[in-house]
Amino acid sequence: MAITELLETSPLAVFPDDAARVAHDVYGLICDVESLPGERDRNFLLSAEGESYVLKIANPAEQPAVLDMQQRVLLHVRRWDPELRVARPMPTQDGELVGATTVAGQDAAVTLATYLDGTPLEHVAVGAGLRHRTVETLASLDLAMRTFHHQELNRPLAWDLRRLPQLRSKVECLEADRKSFVDSWLTHFENRVEPRLRQLNTQAIHNDFNPANLLLAPGGSDRLAGIVDFGDMTLGTRVEDLAIAASYQCLDMEDVSAILLAAVTAYTRQLRLSAIELDLLPDLAISRLVQSIVISAWRAGLHPDNRDYILIHAEPVWEALQRLIAIDLDQLRRDISDTCEPSDREALSTSAALEARRHRLAPGLRLTYDTPLHAVSAESVWITGRSGGRHLDAYNNVAHVGHGQPEVVAAMAAQAARLNTNTRYVVDEVNAYADRLVALLPAPLDTVFFANSGGEANDLAWRIARTITGRQGMIITDHAYHGSTYLTMATSPEELGLDNLEPWVATIAPARPGVSINDEIAAALDQLSRAGEEPAAFACDTVFSSDGIYDPEPGYLAGAYAAMRRAGGLCIADEVQAGLGRVGERVWGFAADDVVPDIVTLGKPMGNGHPIAAVITTTAIAEEFSRAGYYFSTFAGNPVSAAVGMKVLDVMERERLPQQAEVIGRYLRSGLRELEKRSDVVGDVRGPGLFLGVEIVDAGGSPAPAAAESIQNSMRDRRVLIGRTGPSGNVLKIRPPLVFTEEHSDLLLETLDNVLSAW
Ligand code: PMP
Repeated sequence: MAITELLETSPLAVFPDDAARVAHDVYGLICDVESLPGERDRNFLLSAEGESYVLKIANPAEQPAVLDMQQRVLLHVRRWDPELRVARPMPTQDGELVGATTVAGQDAAVTLATYLDGTPLEHVAVGAGLRHRTVETLASLDLAMRTFHHQELNRPLAWDLRRLPQLRSKVECLEADRKSFVDSWLTHFENRVEPRLRQLNTQAIHNDFNPANLLLAPGGSDRLAGIVDFGDMTLGTRVEDLAIAASYQCLDMEDVSAILLAAVTAYTRQLRLSAIELDLLPDLAISRLVQSIVISAWRAGLHPDNRDYILIHAEPVWEALQRLIAIDLDQLRRDISDTCEPSDREALSTSAALEARRHRLAPGLRLTYDTPLHAVSAESVWITGRSGGRHLDAYNNVAHVGHGQPEVVAAMAAQAARLNTNTRYVVDEVNAYADRLVALLPAPLDTVFFANSGGEANDLAWRIARTITGRQGMIITDHAYHGSTYLTMATSPEELGLDNLEPWVATIAPARPGVSINDEIAAALDQLSRAGEEPAAFACDTVFSSDGIYDPEPGYLAGAYAAMRRAGGLCIADEVQAGLGRVGERVWGFAADDVVPDIVTLGKPMGNGHPIAAVITTTAIAEEFSRAGYYFSTFAGNPVSAAVGMKVLDVMERERLPQQAEVIGRYLRSGLRELEKRSDVVGDVRGPGLFLGVEIVDAGGSPAPAAAESIQNSMRDRRVLIGRTGPSGNVLKIRPPLVFTEEHSDLLLETLDNVLSAW
C-alpha cells in the first residue's frame, strides 16, 4: 500500500442514525448519538446509561489490524502506567476489540472506547508550566510504549517522519515560494537526517502528540486529563515523538528556540536521549512542520469539501517553520548538548568511561592523546566529543569518503536488510564489487580474495608467496608494520623491534633520498642466505607510513622489484595505507614507479570503517595457490561488505577524491612548507597526496619525539586531530579523510602555526 492511500480515501458517509444502529447491533447499546469531527474516520459520541463512548467507523482504506493495534495500545498503556489517562477499549458483543459492520453499502471496521471528558489543549491558552507537563507526560507515555509490540507498527504511513522523502511527489501541491524550500529540505533530510535516524533504536511512538490530542481536565483545572488518537502510532525513535510535540508547541510562539530547548530539557529529565537524538531534535521538529505543510496542501486539493478543516493550521505551521529555520540551529544544538545529559554509555563521564575501558578491555591498547578523545559521533571530517565539541579529523584515513557518509550508511543498511551471506553463495553484488576493484588495477592483477582486515590480507599474501615459491624468506622495510596476525607481526619491526625478528625476515631501508636500493636488497638477500633462507617475497607499504612517510624516490620500487624477481621471489604492494587514491591521482602507491606488483593488499579505506580487506593477484598465482593452499573466512566478502565497498568507490569516483587528494595535498604541503621556513622545529615536510609527514627536530637537526608528542597533544587540545609516526616517533602524521578541503587545511595550518609559535 502506498503511504498516501489512507489519506486519499474519503471517509464513509455515515449519519448519526447509522451510528446508533451500529452501536446497537455490534455493541448492544441503546444510546444518544452526536457527531464528532474527524479527518479520516467517522467518530461519534455515544451516551448510554450514564457512560459516554466514542464509536469509530473506520475509513474503508484502514486495515482492521491497525484498529486492533490502536485498541491494544490503550490496554497496554493502562496496564503499564495507570497514571496516564487513556480511553478504555470496549469489546463487541462477541468479545472482539474490533467489530465489523456495513454502512452506506460498504464494509467497515468499528471500535468503541470510553470517552475522555476534557478540553483539547488547542482551545486553551497554554503557558510554560503546561507545556512542561505535556512533555513530561509524553516521556511517561514513551516509556510505557517501549514494551508495546504490534505488527502494524511498521505499516506505511504518510505521517511517518522517516518516510518524509516519499512525499516529494506531493510538493507540487504547494505554492511556488514554498515549493523550492520544501524540496531542498527533503534533500537535506535524505542526506543528513534520515541516515542518522536509522542508526537509532526504535520503539512504538504516539507520533502525533499535538494539542488537539491532549485534554485538559474539565472545570478549569490545568491537569492533563487525557491522551487521545493513537491512529498515527508507528515505529520510531523517542526523539521523533519529542520533536513532533515540540514542533506544535512552537505554533504562534515567538522564541521557538527557547520552546525547543525547554521541551527537550523537560523530556530528558524524565527519559534520557542519546547524543545523536539530542543533535537531531531541531532538524526533526522542522521536518514535522514541513511534513504537515505538504500533507495538508495535498489533502486540501483531494478533499475540497473538507478544505477548511484540513488547512486549519497551515498558516501558523508555515509561520512557525519560518521562525525555526531563521534561528542559529548550530547554536541551538550546542545549547541542547550543554543542557541535557545524554543517555546510555554516552552519559558516563570520560573518567568513568576510561575506568570502564581499563576494567573490561584487554590491557596494552594505547590511547592516542594525553587527554583521550571521548568520541560520540562523527560526520564528514568532524568528530564530536562527549562534551559536544567538534574536532577536525586530520588523522583518519579509514573514513576515506568522510565519517558517516550517508550513501555508504544507507547502502550498508539496505544490503543488510536484503541479504547477507558469505562467499559460499553466488551473490551478484559480490561479483560486481570484485570486478570494480580489478578495473582499478593494472593487468594482470585480476583475481580477488576478500579478507576482514589489512593484517589478514597480508597474512594471506605472505602465505600465497610462500606456497607458490616453496620458500619462507621475507624482505620488508626497517620499521614496517603489516598487521597483528602471527605471520604479519613477525614482519612488523615497528612493534617487535629490529632485534626480535625471525631468521627468515630481513629488512631494507625505506624509500628515503640517498638510499641505494640495489645495495639494500643485495644485503638483505645475503642476510637471508646466511640464515639458510631463500626469499619468498619482498613486501612494502608503498607510502612507508610507519617508516616515517616517504613518497618513493624514483627507481626504488622498480629496483627492488627487479632484484626480487631475479632472486625468484614475489613482489607484494601493501596498499592498506596508500591505496584507493590517498596518494593522489595515481590512485596506488606502487604507481609512483610504474611497477606492477604480483600481489596487492588492501584494507582500511575500502569500507569507510566497515571491516573489509582484499588480496588481489593474478589468475596464475591464485590458481597455483588454490591447488596447494586453502583460504575461506566467514565474513570476508559478505554482501554487506561488498555493498559498502561499492558505494565507497561510487562516492570516491563521483566526487573525484583522488584528484582532491592531489590538489588539497599540494595546498596543505605548501602551507606546511611555509611553516617549515618559519619554525626551527620543523625539519622536513614530505609525503604524497593527502598523506603528509612533518618531521620535528631539535636544534641540532636530530629527531625530537618529545616535542612531536607535545605538538600532537597541543593540536588535540585545540581540537585538531593528527597522528605521529616514524622510527623515532618524531614525524607528525597528517592523513585526513579525502573530503578534506582548503578550508579544513587552513584551520589545520592556522592551529599548527599557533602551536609552533608558542613553542
Ligand atoms: N599494513 C599497513 C601498511 C598498515 O598500516 C596496517 C595497519 N596500520 C596494516 C597493514 C594492518 O591492518 P589492520 O589493522 O586492518 O589489520
